[in-house]
Amino acid sequence: MIAAENRKQDNLMEKIVSLAKRRGFIYPGSEIYGGLKGTWDYGPLGSELKFNIKQEWWKAMVREREDVVGISASILMNPKVWEASGHTAGFTDPLVECKTCHQRFRADQEDIIKEHENQHKEKKEKTEWTEEKKFNLLVEAKIGVIEGEKNTTYLRGEITQGVHVNFKNVLNSSRLKIPFGIAQIGKAFRNEITPGNFTYRSIEFEQMELQYYIEPDENESMRQYEFWKNLRMDWYKKLGINPDNLRFREHTKDELVHYARAAWDIEYKTPFGWKECEGIHHRGDWDLSRHQQFSKEDMSYFDEAIKEKFIPWVIETSGGVDRAALFFLLDAYSEENDRVILKLHPKLAPYKVAVFPLLANKPQLVEKAREVYKMLKAGNFNVTWDDRGNIGKRYYSQDEIGTPYCVTVDFESLENDDVTVRDRDTAKQERVKIKKLKDCISNKLS
Ligand code: ATP
Repeated sequence: MIAAENRKQDNLMEKIVSLAKRRGFIYPGSEIYGGLKGTWDYGPLGSELKFNIKQEWWKAMVREREDVVGISASILMNPKVWEASGHTAGFTDPLVECKTCHQRFRADQEDIIKEHENQHKEKKEKTEWTEEKKFNLLVEAKIGVIEGEKNTTYLRGEITQGVHVNFKNVLNSSRLKIPFGIAQIGKAFRNEITPGNFTYRSIEFEQMELQYYIEPDENESMRQYEFWKNLRMDWYKKLGINPDNLRFREHTKDELVHYARAAWDIEYKTPFGWKECEGIHHRGDWDLSRHQQFSKEDMSYFDEAIKEKFIPWVIETSGGVDRAALFFLLDAYSEENDRVILKLHPKLAPYKVAVFPLLANKPQLVEKAREVYKMLKAGNFNVTWDDRGNIGKRYYSQDEIGTPYCVTVDFESLENDDVTVRDRDTAKQERVKIKKLKDCISNKLS
């Protein structure tokens, strides 16, 4: 039974990878040159999906809140930042090398290690591993124009530090008072030892993070911690992820970084096991006090109400945009007979509406459908056009990419100024007057 379930799940991953390539969600990076391991390019639909995920995150975490602002810091930073944050010394994964074939693996990924040993076993070979070494994940970058005088820095290994180094700038240029948060979305880079599982573990990826600054108080910090932990879990559920496929997992003592007072992950049940989607971390005063120590700048906050100066504590929520995109795709995939339906939440769907003329060779229908298309295009939602093949095929094609509504202009439309609106999930159709169509769809999407 378990084996059958696993096969089905393996299959799901293959189906998603293939659909993603075929329909323009995600392609292998630099494919025409043989690719570059651990890099992925988002196609027309994938970039819409990613954009929508980021937009929903920004709305929930910044725009709808009074206590959070956003920034966009640079990817390249003074290398001292990474000394202060502990990344140059401690941003490592344990690496082992197979002495037989010289492939390198993360020593703590037991399933992958076992799989490799089994591959050798099948060839009647023994696997011997080298001693575990610490491997730094930071990706180096050289900047400067004079050969021999270039400075080595890093492509940021996390977007977090761009926020902390700007703590004082944001404080001084806004009227925020603690507790408040600074949010950011942006790229991060890690020299992952074993990139894999499609986009799940990549070398270049995007993160969406909140650093929430609070007073240094044990009770208050745990109250805030629980608040953000639950809010983040609810975000995934509200955007349609099946709650049975989500869980919290507390970091074990071995995983917990020394400064973290609490750390839980939100995990998603993937075909390759329960995997981290987002981490919620209680970072204490680690970041600001380290930056104060290394930069010699005062990173404290003066609380007017109590006339006290302190280094704030930080609660962090740190999620991956690419992992979220992959998990939303996996969760949305469904098959009904020979129909594939990507049941993405309408807010995430790349296109909200597709407009078709019933027949592509009837100029009157095409003209009317173009009018409807143009009218909807001028709204707030993304609209696509399709006049290829028969109407059934067009519905299937839109279902497969998650378009929630299809609008068809037929002969009745010419007489009655109305159209058919078809729902992706129920396949039910209703007639709607063209003059009410924009409002009708806006209401459905809101
Ligand atoms: P893992 O244990 O899977 O390596 P992590 O605990 O190192 O992840 P964090 O440093 O907490 O991850 O990063 C926050 C988020 O950034 C993760 O929850 C994940 O969504 C995303 N992320 C981290 N590394 C990668 C990666 N290599 N590829 C894609 N997304 C990533």
